[in-house]
Amino acid sequence: MGIVVQKYGGSSVADAAAVKRVARRIVEAKKAGNDVVVAVSAMGDTTDDLLALAEQVSPLPPARELDMLMTAGERISMAVVAMAISDLGFSARSFTGSQAGVITDSVHQKAKIIDVTPGRISTALEEGHIVIVAGFQGVSQDTKEITTLGRGGTDTTAVALAAALDADVCEIYTDVDGVFTADPRIVPAARKLDRVTYEEMLELAACGAKILHLRCVEYARRYNIPIHVRSSFSQLDGTVVSGSIEDRTQEDSMEQAIIAGVAHDRSEAKITVVGVPDKVGEAARIFEALAAAQTNLDMIVQNVSAAATNLTDISFTLPRGDGQAAMAALAALQSEIGFESLLYNDQIGKISLIGAGMRSHPGITAKFFGALASAGVNISMISTSEIRISVVVEESQVDEAVRATHTAFDLDATEVEAVVYGGTGR
Ligand code: ASP
Ligand code: MG
Repeated sequence: MGIVVQKYGGSSVADAAAVKRVARRIVEAKKAGNDVVVAVSAMGDTTDDLLALAEQVSPLPPARELDMLMTAGERISMAVVAMAISDLGFSARSFTGSQAGVITDSVHQKAKIIDVTPGRISTALEEGHIVIVAGFQGVSQDTKEITTLGRGGTDTTAVALAAALDADVCEIYTDVDGVFTADPRIVPAARKLDRVTYEEMLELAACGAKILHLRCVEYARRYNIPIHVRSSFSQLDGTVVSGSIEDRTQEDSMEQAIIAGVAHDRSEAKITVVGVPDKVGEAARIFEALAAAQTNLDMIVQNVSAAATNLTDISFTLPRGDGQAAMAALAALQSEIGFESLLYNDQIGKISLIGAGMRSHPGITAKFFGALASAGVNISMISTSEIRISVVVEESQVDEAVRATHTAFDLDATEVEAVVYGGTGR
């Protein structure tokens, strides 16, 4: 008998009717002869509502208490899903992350899973129960405090459980039919991918595709767990995330699409440090200060210094939420380093073209930039990896840029495939 791990996102368990529907689906997997372990997210917009409540109560709630509050959302889901299953004549046991053995580091709000000790889950499975686990939470090994894994973290809970239990597959149920070549809300002609490699999915997730939590993909890759992303609202086969680009044979890569998709991200801001003296150690000082302020940087560009002045500009992008802290950290350095000024712009967006095939196909960059040019989109920053090209553009041009790129790479489907069932994309 195999073990199947399933994850249901917030839109799949948004209300009582949805919970009952999901319970029937879980029972089907059990009836098919599997041991079933389910990770659930909070119902609908519960997590946002809880956060909004916290904000009303306190402008700066302590992170420990925020975690206590936010984990309550998933506890509600796990209990009601278990109830709905027992109503169908099957027995289910729900467990909090801590009870399920999800052990994390001690960083509140963005804890990392460091171990899973699923003793209670295994016992419950042996006793014939279906196991329901509250997603997105764990317990710190050091502090013994309850932690959360960051927004969207239930995906990671599911994959971590699948790895610890040596499950056959991890099914991630969401409100779209799988991973698409672009966000169907922007590109109605986006196509569903049948298969995508871990590396491509990592880039997609890191570049703003919200379909899977980044950590979940990292975890799946490390433990070689195939993820099947599919809709809880339809019976269609979704997208299987598995395999490494390294393992692909020549034949595979001949058949493989060159481009997996176009991702976009509107969550970043850009800071420019203007007029930095072009000498050894200045960049190090700037980025040490940013590191001390706990800012997560993404793209970094340093211009060639103007010969006359020997001054250069350094620009980088970072999450908008880190913007204030970064600006404060840099402002404190201004007299010491002697740069001219700081610019902050959060009206930017990032477009990324991702595909394993670009390693062996020349001309991808030219085509990408050509598409943006024809759409009248100006590029302000560029960065690349082996399988990705990203550009920063004006925020107001993001949709246009995504559509133009999607069309230029012949990704548009002739018939509309993309249905967004729930509306939240989780
Ligand atoms: N409920 C949490 C969130 O909305 C975790 C999750 O959905 O995976 O971010
Ligand atoms: Mg959620």
